[in-house]
Amino acid sequence: MRGKILVASTNPGKVSELRSMLGEEIEWVGLSDFGQIETIAEDGQTFAENARKKAAGYAKVTGLWTIADDSGLVVDALGGQPGVKSARFSGVESKNRKLLDRKNMEKVLELLEGVPKERRTARFVCHLVLASPEEVLAETEGNLEGFIAERQAGENGFGYDPIFFVPELGKTVAQISRAEKNEISHRGKAIRKLKPQLNELLQKKFS
Ligand code: IMP
Repeated sequence: MRGKILVASTNPGKVSELRSMLGEEIEWVGLSDFGQIETIAEDGQTFAENARKKAAGYAKVTGLWTIADDSGLVVDALGGQPGVKSARFSGVESKNRKLLDRKNMEKVLELLEGVPKERRTARFVCHLVLASPEEVLAETEGNLEGFIAERQAGENGFGYDPIFFVPELGKTVAQISRAEKNEISHRGKAIRKLKPQLNELLQKKFS
C-alpha cells in the first residue's frame, strides 16, 4: 500500500472514477466511509475557492490527503452564470435530481431565448484540489468548450449535458457515450493533469 486518499464526495461514482484514472494501488475512501463527518459548505465565489475549501477542510478533519472538485457550467452571455450555482440554478428545491436538472436547463434556455448561436458560447469547468491536513499540495483545472443548444437532445450523462453542444462532435454531451465523455470532459482533463503531480508527491512521501 502506497497511501490512502479521501475523495471529498458521497458519490461512489466519483470515488471509482478517481480510482480507475489515478491508480488502483492507492487506497481510496469516500465521505460515506466515515460515520459522522462535519459538512463543509460550498459557499465560495469561484470553483477554485470551493474545491480548496473542501479539500483543505476534509483533510484537516480526517487527517488524510484529500481530493476535492468543484465543477459547473459557465455561459458567456449570462455573465458566467450558472457558475458555482450550477447545481441549484433554477431555485427549485427537490431531492429529485432529474427534475432539478430539467428545471436548471429550462432556466438557461429561457434566459438565452433570442440569443444567436455565435453568442451562446459556454464551457464546463472542473477545478480539482489535492490537500494534506497542512497545505494545498496540487491544483488543476479542465475545461470543455461548446455552445448552448436551442433545445435538449440526448439521454446520456447528467446535469446540463442535453443542452451542451460540442461543435467538433456535432452532438450534445448527452448524445455521446460515457467513455467518449471521459476523453473530452472537463473532469477527465483535470484528473489527467493531476496524475503526474500526484505520482511525484506520493513518491516523495513514501521514498
Ligand atoms: P458538482 O461539482 O459535481 O457538484 O457539480 C455541480 C453542478 O454542475 C452539477 O449539479 C451539474 O448541474 C453541473 N455539472 C458539472 N459537471 C457537469 C457535466 O459533466 N455535465 C453536466 N452538468 C455538469
